[in-house]
Amino acid sequence: MKTTAENLQGSRLDLFIDGRFTRPHSGQYVPSYDPTTAEPWYQFAQADAVDVDVAVRSARAALKNPAWHRMTQTERGKLVRRLADLVLENAEELALIECRDNGKLLKEMRAQMRAVPDSYIYFAGMADKLQGDTIPVNKLDTLNYNVREPVGVVGMIIPWNSPLMMLTGTLAPCLAIGNTIVVKPSEHATASTLALAELVIEAGIPPGVFNVVTGDGATTGDALTRHPGIARFVFTGSTSTGRKIAGNAAQNLVPCQMELGGKSPHVVFSDADVERAVNGVVAGVFAAAGQTCVAGSRCFVEAPVYERFVEALVERTRRITVGHPTSEATDIGPLALAAQLDKVQGYVASGVQEGARIAIGGRKPLDTALQRGWYFEPTVMTQARNDMRFMRDEIFGPVVGVVPFNTEEELIELANDTEYGLASGIWTNDIDRALRFARDVDAGTVWINTFRSAAYMSPNGGSKHSGYGYRGGFEVMREFSRLKNVVVDYSGAMQDPFVIRLR
Ligand code: NAD
Repeated sequence: MKTTAENLQGSRLDLFIDGRFTRPHSGQYVPSYDPTTAEPWYQFAQADAVDVDVAVRSARAALKNPAWHRMTQTERGKLVRRLADLVLENAEELALIECRDNGKLLKEMRAQMRAVPDSYIYFAGMADKLQGDTIPVNKLDTLNYNVREPVGVVGMIIPWNSPLMMLTGTLAPCLAIGNTIVVKPSEHATASTLALAELVIEAGIPPGVFNVVTGDGATTGDALTRHPGIARFVFTGSTSTGRKIAGNAAQNLVPCQMELGGKSPHVVFSDADVERAVNGVVAGVFAAAGQTCVAGSRCFVEAPVYERFVEALVERTRRITVGHPTSEATDIGPLALAAQLDKVQGYVASGVQEGARIAIGGRKPLDTALQRGWYFEPTVMTQARNDMRFMRDEIFGPVVGVVPFNTEEELIELANDTEYGLASGIWTNDIDRALRFARDVDAGTVWINTFRSAAYMSPNGGSKHSGYGYRGGFEVMREFSRLKNVVVDYSGAMQDPFVIRLR
């Protein structure tokens, strides 16, 4: 892999179309910033509608390339497996690139780059397991069967928070099925997707199967989502962007998979082990500086244990180390963008204005070494209410509001009183209560005595404004393939078409 964190410094990254790096039509390049210093790091190409059209045409041509579509499923699975090996071989470099691009901890990115190859291997094994059915129809001498086929060109738009991890969830199954792809990474973390493109070619996947158009949402993303040559979209990002994309895709009657924002309830009952619950709540909302879609940002605590829990949560939060993302000692790195820092500060201020109290955090760290970066202290807000603005909107930062509740009925009302439905968590030693919560909470994922424990084998998706469609498990193979029904009459006699026979 030629792209490395070191040689990215001061470099210019081109688009990746039809197996080659290509200069953008506009000739324009845009800086990407290092979140620890707020200084430019490299520049990426700004693709316009012309580049997007070339990329989609290349992906459409690749669909017809016999080297891809006449390959057996088993052979295709082997290529995806080879890609897994290459990602693993380059895991350290990919982790360094993502860490410097989005400011997430190097140790977390290293862990992700070990999980990503496993995910490719999992889906590689499914390449030759996507089978159809024969259907016993009400006709003699008739064979009626279904086959599953690739849908065509899949457009993928991904966010900055875990680019390769997010991409893999749908790229791996799409490759295994035999689709072709045009991906637009986030303008805030572009480099790792282009590095992956090199590995795709090295793995032996034919040119044009995987294309990368880089640039912002308003130009590049918009052009991609309006393109009539796309068969299906997968979007991971904010709910407001999801609305625009679904609107554009609808003009071409193109279905979408939407993996959007969240405002997940995280519940603690009096019978829970307080230390474990505190660790769970801290991991659920402060990991990755709160920049995770599933962040348990609304914490509901049973009234009898509220004071004790808040005290323990504040005490544990005090021991969190905010620092440079490459340091082993760091628990929380910077936020990925300057705008994100402004947004987090704005929400904390609005919470205070509405009557919440900052129990700890609520500001940039005082450490002089961290002044240039987009750092923010982990923040616990008490005296919070579920109707406050900071408890309703997704903040995507290290801020949790803690609210007491008295009964299970009240809890379910509070937990479901949100426009989102992505994830949820509960801490209790009462299994009946945990299962009642799992039954009644409106969320795509329920964690019981754990949080943020994700697996690519299980289907994950959201409800309400958190989106639709699933990532993970065999379900994804169905979502990115389509059924074709074939009917064969082997009676040897075509009946008179104008004689209607009633059985
Ligand atoms: P975002 O919506 O700002 O951007 C996501 C992507 O969409 C980027 O590539 C961006 O360039 C593109 N985009 C923006 N405007 C566009 C437009 N008009 N047309 C087409 N593309 C456009 O989101 P973000 O700030 O990058 O990521 C954070 C959001 O992602 C949060 O809301 C988070 O909850 C969500 N997210 C969801 C999941 C999930 O699985 N549900 C996972 C990770 C992140």
